[in-house]
Parts: sequence; structure tokens; C-alpha cells
Amino acid sequence: MNNGERPGLPAPRRDVALMAGYHSPQLAVDVRLNTNEAPEPPPAAFVAALQEELGRLAWNRYPDRSARALRVALAAHHGVTPEEVFCANGSNEVLQSLLLAYGGPGRNVVVFEPTYALHSHIARVTGTRVVTGARDEEFLLDSDEVGRCLAEARAQDLDGPNPVITFLCSPNNPTGRLEPDARVDDLCRRAPGLVVIDEAYGQFAPRSALWRRGENERVVIVRTFSKTWSLAGLRLGYALGAPEVVEAMERVVLPYHLDLVTQAAGVLALAHEEEMRARVARLVAERGRVVAGLEGLGCAVVPSDANFVLFAPDGRDAHAIWSALVEQSVLVRDVSGWPRLAGYLRVTIGAPAENDRFLEALGAALGR
Ligand code: PMP
Repeated sequence: MNNGERPGLPAPRRDVALMAGYHSPQLAVDVRLNTNEAPEPPPAAFVAALQEELGRLAWNRYPDRSARALRVALAAHHGVTPEEVFCANGSNEVLQSLLLAYGGPGRNVVVFEPTYALHSHIARVTGTRVVTGARDEEFLLDSDEVGRCLAEARAQDLDGPNPVITFLCSPNNPTGRLEPDARVDDLCRRAPGLVVIDEAYGQFAPRSALWRRGENERVVIVRTFSKTWSLAGLRLGYALGAPEVVEAMERVVLPYHLDLVTQAAGVLALAHEEEMRARVARLVAERGRVVAGLEGLGCAVVPSDANFVLFAPDGRDAHAIWSALVEQSVLVRDVSGWPRLAGYLRVTIGAPAENDRFLEALGAALGR
């Protein structure tokens, strides 16, 4: 590996050059269940409304820099004020904006592995130190470990408050586990800086941490249109946080980062909530069917409140099973090399026919 260096070209920043990228291989397969996308397109009425809207947009002008109409619509949707809403190109850009505003050299953040890799990845890209904690054997927060991580972050002689951000992904990716209320409460009480709760999969779970915003101004909720809203191709995510946090993010994000199509599409999508809820209900029902199928094949399944399921294929070598699935044109996520996930694969819940194909292929791979 040459770390991206070539004679005659400057070397990239040393800490960035050492970072491995975060990518799931995209192979040409029939059944793609590796990136937690929605299996259905968005409602036809939404697509038609957006097509019509495209003809009305002022293409020669820069978009509304403050994305006012979209923020007003999201604020109404969640019962907050527009000043508490920050929108960006996918929730990844929301996370990046948070870290640009609050992270950086001299600051640290806490994450609890296994969790969404981009929290620590973007932290490092922004020069923020990362204190890594471990979840317990059920992949939930452990009170002693939370204490240990907060103490370790506080002890680093940096420009505080440290940790400046504690990340909690719930339902967690890649485990699917929803954090119990008492443990979230405990974390919010003890963490000194912002507590960023990544709810990319929030709508698949029976409850959200949104209400905590009313009780604790340090809580920031991050959401996306990529999963439940069937709009991963649009790139739209948002944060709900204190107006001061939103302002800080606005200061670091590029001017006009959110184009006029994305802003218009977000407003129009919010008018189709019923169809979105129906999609979520269908996926939750399918999740139950896939879990039953996995258990029927002798796999250990981690309880999921998301649109994917983490499973250990019957004590077999997970990477070999992943390859055997690819040979049958079914792609899932091989997470067996991630911290604390040896032996596990993650499958996204797809359309019923895709889930059938997956279960059949897995049965064949396991010799059933
Ligand atoms: N947070 C979590 C937990 C995710 O799993 C993902 C997508 N894989 C994201 C954020 C980013 O999603 P997007 O940028 O598409 O909103």
C-alpha cells in the first residue's frame, strides 16, 4: 500500500493517509442486502409531485441558504421550532458538521463499539481524538464502561469539555439493538458535552429518544431520509438540537451545500407520511419472518429494532458463508472483521421475494 503517495505529489495528511476507507463492496448481484437501503421506491405520487416541482424551480439562482421551507416543514413534523433543525446532504454530512463545529485538535469524543464506523472515522478526519468503549455481551451500554470512557476522555489534557461529544447509535448499526431508556438516561446525565443520538433507523423502533430534547439541551438527535423515506439516492439528513448547536453547524458547513432539488424533495416527501409508515410496517413484518427463518436454520440472531438483522451463521466461518451467498448472487454485509463481531453477518431486510432468495441461499450455504 502506498498510502496515496506518489513522487512529485504532496503526501496527504499523515493521519488521513493511514485511515482505511469505509466501504461495502458493491458487486453485481441479483439480491443486494448489504447497505440497509429501502427495497421499495418512494410513492409514485411523490415522484410525480417532484417532477412537476422541477419545472417551477429557479435554477439560475443559488438555493435558499437557510433551507427555510424544509426546516419549517421538519419542525412542524417533529413539534419543534425551525431554529432547532439543521439539514444536510445525508446524515453523514450532519455528523461531519457536528464534528467540524465541536471536534478538532485538542478535543475528544466517545463511541461505544461495535457501532456505526463513521462516527469515529469522521472524528479522526477532523483531527478529533476518539475514546473507544466496548458494549456489553448483549451489545448494550455498560454502566462501568461508560464511566471508564468518560473518565479517560476527561483525563486527556485537552481543551474541554471532554468528551465534547458522546455518540450513541440507537437502534445501533450494525447490531440493530435499541438502547433501553434507563441506559440512555444514565448516559445523558453523566456525559458532559453533547450527546448525539443517531436515529438513522429510528422509525423502525417502537420508541425514539426525541422527547429527551425537551429535558436536556445537550441532546442532539440525528435522522435521515435514506431508510424509511426510501430516499437514499437523494442525500438528505437532519439534526434536531438546541438553536446554538444548529447555528454552530451552519457556521462550518459550505454555503449553499443543500441544493434546491434536495430542499424541495424533502418538503414534498413529508406530505407522504402515511405511505412511509406503511413501508415501515411492511419491513417490520418482514423482519419477523427473516428472524424466524434464520432461527429455523440454526443461526444465532441478535434482536433488532432496525431494517437489518445481525446473525451468526450456525457457528460456521462467517466469511465463507458470505462468499457462498455471493456465489448465489446474494450480497449481505460481512462484518465479521469489525471490532467484537467475529462470526457475524448483517442482512438488510428486503422485499419478500429478496428475503426468500436470501433464506434459500443461506440454507444451501449451510448445507440444509
Ligand atoms: N447513521 C447510521 C447509523 C447509518 O447506518 C447511516 C447509513 N449507513 C448513516 C448515519 C448515514 O446515512 P445517510 O448519510 O444516508 O443519511
